[in-house]
Amino acid sequence: MSRLYPFHGGLKTVRHKTESNQWPIQRAALPHRLTVPLRQHIGAIAKSLVQAGDRVLKGQMIGQADGYISAAVHAPTSGMVAAVETCPVPHPSGLPDLCVVIDSDGEECWVEHQPVDYRALHPSELRNVLRNAGIVGLGGAAFPSAVKLNLSGQCEHLDTLILNGAECEPWITCDDRLMRERATGIVAGLQVMTHLLEPREVLIGIEDDKPEAIAAMAEACVGTGYQVRPIPTRYPSGSVKQLVKLLTGKETPVEGLPVDVGVQCFNAATAYTVHRAIDHGEPVISRVVTVTGHVSQPGNFEALLGTSFADLVEQCGGYREGVERLIMGGPMMGFALHSDEVPLTKAANCILAASAAELTPAQPVMPCIRCGACVDVCPANLLPQQLYWHARAKEFDKAQDYHLFSCIECGCCSYVCPSHIPLVQYYRYAKNEIWAQEKEKQKAELARQRHQARLERLEREKQEREAKLRQKAPAKTIKATKASEAGIKLDIEAAVAHAKPHPPSSISSHAEEGESITDYSARTPALPVEGGSRGSEPLSSKQDA
Ligand code: SF4
Ligand code: SF4
Repeated sequence: MSRLYPFHGGLKTVRHKTESNQWPIQRAALPHRLTVPLRQHIGAIAKSLVQAGDRVLKGQMIGQADGYISAAVHAPTSGMVAAVETCPVPHPSGLPDLCVVIDSDGEECWVEHQPVDYRALHPSELRNVLRNAGIVGLGGAAFPSAVKLNLSGQCEHLDTLILNGAECEPWITCDDRLMRERATGIVAGLQVMTHLLEPREVLIGIEDDKPEAIAAMAEACVGTGYQVRPIPTRYPSGSVKQLVKLLTGKETPVEGLPVDVGVQCFNAATAYTVHRAIDHGEPVISRVVTVTGHVSQPGNFEALLGTSFADLVEQCGGYREGVERLIMGGPMMGFALHSDEVPLTKAANCILAASAAELTPAQPVMPCIRCGACVDVCPANLLPQQLYWHARAKEFDKAQDYHLFSCIECGCCSYVCPSHIPLVQYYRYAKNEIWAQEKEKQKAELARQRHQARLERLEREKQEREAKLRQKAPAKTIKATKASEAGIKLDIEAAVAHAKPHPPSSISSHAEEGESITDYSARTPALPVEGGSRGSEPLSSKQDA
């Protein structure tokens, strides 16, 4: 067995895996109505391509990726678009979001499937196929995969591609069942990713409490060169930076990404969707989700995106008595929902109906005693109690100095805190406040830039106007100068003419007919002047003087 590099901290938690992993994946029933959020990924919300009254086919694109970090959304079944409107969605904020509501016609009528030969495509074309298939990380992050499959500008050459099959959170078993049942498909998807990224090695990390999944994946990998690496069952081994450390010994920089150290990581379920998109021409319209906890028959379901959580719980035989809280995700990193009338999304790997027994009983919060237990378990090597102090005191700059944003919200610190301080809640609060302040700053900066741009435009227009005026002005001035010079000349000549004896009317008439006065003067004969005064001199000599 190859060497592993343990990460700092972490916990042995109660597993609660067998409640749901004992049965094969079941296909969930087709609901009458599907509510499909247009934002099921990190990045810009998809642009709706449909409106109420439109008929859609199963697999038809109904939301187009809007920007580089975005993903397409597709109709999970055929039917009629009932509305495009804001609806409740499963999100920690509890805020509704824009959704396409589809009434199923029960026909499950597909668009034409278009599988592709990925080896024949240019990498950018291949990434585009994946982008248009709506592929995002199904481990919970929902980051658009096409972006992660493009190394340009991120890293020159990839050392290691990691397939994450750790599934370290208690209760969740959807990846375990997928690896057991569809290992060949997962490896086929992994081959597409390998083709794009050309890594030196491919490692598959699976926690050692999943022996069936390890065996199935090892068998599917025969002849590929991919290595299946069982890893110790220790939460949070499935968190990306911890898994990278565990398998490669590389530390991802505090503010960086695994790609910064030549590693890229994808979830096992994501690789499976890549295989469906490439080899079957099917976009992401469903996912395997664990429905567990205090329900009659927990299990894993392949359900259409947009199916309500209430429908899925119903298919598990409904809630058992004593459910205290509905959680999306696991008990450590998941979040509580206000209602089960929210749709299944790409990020939803688990619906946990938790009873009081599954939840840590609410205990009175006591002051921090600086015991350091939180420091010992923090897998991100942080000082959780310092973060707590600064978050509580709203000293957000100081919290950032202590690397608040490196906190992966794993909950290990809260789990062990003897004072029962809800530490993660303080970190989430601080992060949200900082994001809100950043947004405000960005808005103010945008407004400042717009104002500045307007001033510059007005100044530019003013200068252009003035330049035009200046261009016209010299012409006028020259004309005016010429005219004025001509005027002076005319005045002088007129005066001279006036001083001369009046020419015969015939000559005068010549002038009137347009001959210049100069001409006239030139042709004026030297007439004898009466009285022998100064005026008796010939006019020409007078003029010369
Ligand atoms: S575990 Fe709790 S009490 Fe102990 S140092 Fe951390 S925050 Fe304080
Ligand atoms: S929640 Fe954050 S601070 Fe607490 S142990 Fe996990 S990474 Fe460390």
